[in-house]
Amino acid sequence: AAKKNGSDWVVYDEAKHSDEREQEILHELKKDIVEFTGFSLYYQPKINLKTRKIDSAEVLLRWENKQLGMVSPAEFIPIAEKYGLIQDLTKSIFFRACQQVKRWNQEHFPIQKLAVNLSATFFQLQNGNEMIKDILEQTEVNPKSINIELEVTETAIMENVNRAIEMLDDLRGIGLTIALDDFGTGLSSLTYLKNLPIDTLKIDKAFIEGIPGDEKDNGITELIVLISKKIGLEIVAEGIEILEQDQFLTSIGCDYGQGYFYSKPLSLEQLTERFGSSKQN
Ligand code: C2E
Ligand code: CA
Ligand code: CA
Ligand code: CA
Repeated sequence: AAKKNGSDWVVYDEAKHSDEREQEILHELKKDIVEFTGFSLYYQPKINLKTRKIDSAEVLLRWENKQLGMVSPAEFIPIAEKYGLIQDLTKSIFFRACQQVKRWNQEHFPIQKLAVNLSATFFQLQNGNEMIKDILEQTEVNPKSINIELEVTETAIMENVNRAIEMLDDLRGIGLTIALDDFGTGLSSLTYLKNLPIDTLKIDKAFIEGIPGDEKDNGITELIVLISKKIGLEIVAEGIEILEQDQFLTSIGCDYGQGYFYSKPLSLEQLTERFGSSKQN
């Protein structure tokens, strides 16, 4: 593509464009993060495939900026990570998620478990666990009685496996549960399954996509479910979009399902409307 520059047509510079976009996002992020302006927590339900009940959800961040409009987390999260802004963001998200799940607990809302994504750089933080514990204290949430799961990716753990294991052990010690997110997109060695202190495995939607037409995806998914159950991990399939995928995963004994087939990520208002009244305070 070409872009008009003064009177000359110049070759459109993809790299320059993306760098400009990155700087623009960075600039706006810095401003909005201070007071969590334009950010909101969305909740994507997870269905228990055995009971067919929706009893948990994952927090997904949304950002609508005055200048840029809606920006996808897939675009701004890596930028926040790159420039050291993610920690403040994670703090705000985790704080709000704790308040929310505590409220649901008091109200006996159908959703009683909430998962929060941790950033790829979390295990590089000196005080990451302190941050989590401080917020649990501030919000008076005891993870031994209120279910909070942390979703972490393989790639984040791989950076420094020993350090990650140490931090995860500590977090599980206070009652948090750990889900390994996007399983299947990294190296996914069975050794990691054996050694990592995790409770849940989330099969990446890249595998679910091919079900039921792709025999390889069917087979790999079935095997991952089987292994997970054998070694006592709970298993969640993400990215379920059609009935046939729901049926296949249910038939092979997958514990949980998540995806547009059940629900896209919802605002608190939409979620409340769909799953019952929630007292405001
Ligand atoms: P993720 O953690 O793997 O989240 C799943 C993504 O898949 C979400 O995109 C979700 O909206 C989308 N999704 C859910 N069901 C379906 C489906 O059936 N089909 C398809 N095609 N997609 C589906 P989203 O919300 O745009 O988030 C993208 C990524 O951004 C997340 O991937 C996560 O890595 C990151 N992210 C989102 N919110 C947060 C957050 O609060 N903190 C951190 N650290 N990262 C976040
Ligand atoms: Ca996730
Ligand atoms: Ca995922
Ligand atoms: Ca993913």
